Order: sequence, then structure tokens, then C-alpha cells
Amino acid sequence: MTVYSHTRLALYEKCPLAYKYRYIDKIKPAEAFTSIEMFMGSRVHDTLEYVYKQRKKSPMEKITLSEMLSYYDFVWKKNWADDVKVIKENMTANDYLDQGKLILSEYYQTYQPFDRDETLSVEERIDISIEGFKLMGFIDRLSVNKESGHVEIHDYKTSSHLPDVTDLQNDRQLALYQIGIQKKYNFYDKEFDIIYHYLRFRKEIRLQKSEDELENLKKNIVTLIQTIELASWENDFPACVGSACRWCEFSPVCPAFNK
Ligand code: SF4
Repeated sequence: MTVYSHTRLALYEKCPLAYKYRYIDKIKPAEAFTSIEMFMGSRVHDTLEYVYKQRKKSPMEKITLSEMLSYYDFVWKKNWADDVKVIKENMTANDYLDQGKLILSEYYQTYQPFDRDETLSVEERIDISIEGFKLMGFIDRLSVNKESGHVEIHDYKTSSHLPDVTDLQNDRQLALYQIGIQKKYNFYDKEFDIIYHYLRFRKEIRLQKSEDELENLKKNIVTLIQTIELASWENDFPACVGSACRWCEFSPVCPAFNK
């Protein structure tokens, strides 16, 4: 049975043909690459994961900024690969390395000593079942707020675009994780906050979902998965050419783009 994820559903919404290339044909493009933006974002995530794991393991031990940035340097070098590509003109890999350092330094100044909440887990896998369809995802960080007692689902973004709150109110990912966490831990009596950290902007956007919103989300997900399964059955995956093609790993093999 197919296991869906937010990323998988979002790719179908962005371009059904790209979805087919990745998940059905399982094409590995000869010129596949990792964008430097994605690479930097992953290393920032690695570093925050390290910080909160350390904090959970040794709550009394202070994590210094220099320790945090050394870890970032370490994972940057350890994971660097030849397929990491800088697309923007006049930018170098080192510029992105420095951007990540700035993001982490600002996060450190805002949140150290990282004790506003109690971390329950980092990068926890969550499996969700909705009307027989299976979904999974990884939560950047799950915590309990020490003041409010609310369960918090954190997501860290290194995007250079700051969305409107109304866009985030329609976002599926963290609300989906809330459904999974409620079920997994029987947290139906708890209040939840879903928190988007737009790290480049030092902005934390905190939202709550009503039961009605969660029910609507479930219905929309079921409809979307049914649409995808019908498209698979009919082998009907139209191309959706647009600005996202520039970052699409399948652009070298995509006839619609190359036309
Ligand atoms: S290059 Fe554009 S149209 Fe082609 S698969 Fe990628 S996103 Fe879709």
C-alpha cells in the first residue's frame, strides 16, 4: 500500500508530471542535484536537532554559540557532495554557509538557554491513518510549553519567503502531524500549538487548529489521495510548467519544460 507524505502530496499539487517521474517511474536524473538552499536548510535542521538532543540529554549543561556553530561546520563538511549546486548568480557555497551561521546565531540569541519548553522528541516519525490511507512524516520538534501546558509542534524553515498567516492557516503539514500525535499519544484532551519558525526573519508564527478544521483537512487529504490514485490508474499526469521548473530535478528530462 502506498504511504503518502506531505511532500509527496505537495509535489502532485505542484506538478503531476514531476510526481510521476519521482514516485511512479522512480527516475534518477543523470543531472540530479541538490540545491544549495536545500543543503543549507538541512544542515541548519541537523544543528537544531543536535542542540535540542543535547539539551534533553543534559538539561543543566549550557550549550555555547561556538559549540553550536562548530557542529554546523562539522555537518556541512561531512555532508558536502559534488551534486550540491548553486543556482543563483553571484552567490557561492560559502555565502550560504555564512547565511546558515547567521540564522543559527540569531536563533541562539533568541532562544538560549532553550528552556522555554520541554522537548519530547526531535525528528520523530509519525504514522497517520485516514480512512484507510496511510501517511507519514517527521516532526522537527515536539515539546510541551512550560507556561501554557500546550503541546507544541515546531517546524523550522530557512526559506527566504515569509508567507502570510492566512497562507499558513491553509497549510496541511503541521495540522496533519497534530492529527497523528493526538492519536499516537492519546492527546485528545490537550491543547495544541503549531509553530512555524521562519528563521531568516526571526519570526515565530503560532497557530491553533479547531476540531472542524482538522476534520476538513482529513476530508481534503482523502479527496487528494483519491485524485492521485485515479491519475495513476489512468496514467494521466499533466505537466505544470512554471517558475518551479527552475529548481525541478527533472527539468533535463522533461519534454514540456524543454519545449
Ligand atoms: S520541469 Fe516543470 S513541468 Fe517538467 S516535471 Fe519539472 S516541474 Fe513539471
